[in-house]
Amino acid sequence: MKIHFPLLRHAKTPYIRINTSLCEACWTCVDTCPNHVLGKVEVLSHRHVRVDRADQCEGCGKCVKVCPNGAILRVDKVKK
Ligand code: SF4
Ligand code: SF4
Repeated sequence: MKIHFPLLRHAKTPYIRINTSLCEACWTCVDTCPNHVLGKVEVLSHRHVRVDRADQCEGCGKCVKVCPNGAILRVDKVKK
């Protein structure tokens, strides 16, 4: 079976980073982002959010707030 490793460019913007292993594909963040930065990966049972338009992210933090699983973190909160 082919295993999908998300490319880092699909997991972060200058302001947020996604931990796809915590994403349960509820799509709340996709619907909440005012700039349509986030998109969906839906391949059979393989489902999680991804960054489609990183350059459009303005760091408003709405996606971070609405995620019920803590799958999206602000970059300044990510442990180095
Ligand atoms: S921080 Fe704001 S603009 Fe950036 S992806 Fe999240 S909701 Fe969209
Ligand atoms: S809100 Fe959280 S769990 Fe829902 S799709 Fe976005 S990252 Fe995944």
